[in-house]
Formats: sequence, C-alpha cells, structure tokens
Amino acid sequence: MRIDIITVVPELLASPLNESILKRAQESGHAEIYVHNLRDYTDDKRRTVDDYPFGGEAGMVMKIEPVYRCIEKLKSERDYDEIIFTSPDGITYNQHEANRLSLMKNIIILCGHYKGIDYRIREHLITREISIGDYVLTGGELAACVIADSVVRIIPGAIGDEASALTDCFQDNLLAPPVYTRPAEFNGWKVPDVLLSGNFAEIEKWQDNEAYMRTKLLRPDLLNE
Ligand code: SAH
Repeated sequence: MRIDIITVVPELLASPLNESILKRAQESGHAEIYVHNLRDYTDDKRRTVDDYPFGGEAGMVMKIEPVYRCIEKLKSERDYDEIIFTSPDGITYNQHEANRLSLMKNIIILCGHYKGIDYRIREHLITREISIGDYVLTGGELAACVIADSVVRIIPGAIGDEASALTDCFQDNLLAPPVYTRPAEFNGWKVPDVLLSGNFAEIEKWQDNEAYMRTKLLRPDLLNE
C-alpha cells in the first residue's frame, strides 16, 4: 500500500512515520509512505502557500494552486483509491474506516493548516473527509499520522504477530481483554489464575467473557452496532 501525505509542515510527520511498526512496515515493503512539502509546488519566490480569506475574516487560508498541482502530479503517476482531507467536520474516524482504507492500494492524505483550505479543493478534488475527533488541531499532520498508523498496522504481514492486530479493541465491536506479563505476582497483586493454568480452551473462554463484560460496562454502544 502507498500513502502520499501532503503538508506544509513535513517536519511534524518525520518521527511518527519512521519508528516502530510504521518503520518496519516500510522496510519490509508492506507500506510506502511519501511526504510532499506543499511549498515545493509554488512558483512564488517566498514559497507562500496561504493567503487572506475573501470576506475579511481573521486567519489565513491555504491556496488552491499548490494543492492542485501536487494532487494532479500524483494522479498523473498512478490511480488513487481515495483522496482524503483531514477536517474536524469530516466523518469521525474509527476502526471500520481504518479497515476499509487498509484494503486500498494508493491513498492521498491532504493535511489542512491555518484556518483551513480554499473550499473549492474540497468540492472538486477530495473524495473523503475525515475527522479524528470533535476537537480542533492546529493542522492535519497529527490526524494524518493517526490514520497512517492505524491503517498500516493492519496490513496483513505488517505486524510481526498478525493475530495480534485482530484481537485489538474494536475489531468485532469488542474492547480487548486485559493482558498481563511476568511476574505472576507483584506487591500481592495477582494475575488471574486461569491465565497460568495452561488450559487454552479455558483461557479463550475467559478472554471472550472479559472482552464482552468490559464492552458492556465501558462501551455498551458498540454492542448495538
Ligand atoms: N477553522 C477550521 C479549523 C482549522 S484547523 C474549523 O473550524 O473547522 C486547521 C486544520 O487542522 C484543518 O484544516 C484540518 O486539516 C486539521 N484538523 C483540525 N482538527 C482536526 C480534526 N479533529 N481531525 C482532523 N483534522 C483536523
């Protein structure tokens, strides 16, 4: 899978995309992630990518031309399954959407900045608008990292232990059961006996029950989906 991220602050993306699972997934060829600096797509000597809003409100707006040039260049090189804009008024991101995106071949994620982007970009170039929650970030870069991370980790083969991603929270609309490691007792706090029993059928039953009970208690809405 290939992800192209378009941004005015590429520095913000460097570390999250180049450590841990995202790093390994790129090294093993499961994912290719490219970051494009919007300032490379201006003719302007000062590499300006924003301008004053029509109507005279406060704040700056991202200009059409650099975004258009960058997206058109990428589209001339390959077909894209989705051109995403990160936006607080988009659909709220969740595991279903991450699963859906992980099946795609090529996606673009456009990060907004300042007061937002010229609305014509959203009307004519964007195919999907995604919010990572009901709060406002300074820019779409952190949202793009959230999307890239959650998508890449479920590409088959990207995580060493593939089964592990399938037992995460929200897969099957259930929260994950608790996990423990050694020592079996610390400070008088004990790991549940069943996990030490070696009886895998019982362990699985316990995990399923814990997942169900925790979901019922903490996120009953998931059970109704
Ligand atoms: N004035 C805009 C917010 C601009 S914030 C409004 O009120 O809707 C600047 C940029 O940050 C946005 O264009 C968007 O790309 C990104 N952003 C902010 N909050 C976000 C969120 N919750 N999810 C995804 N992207 C977000």
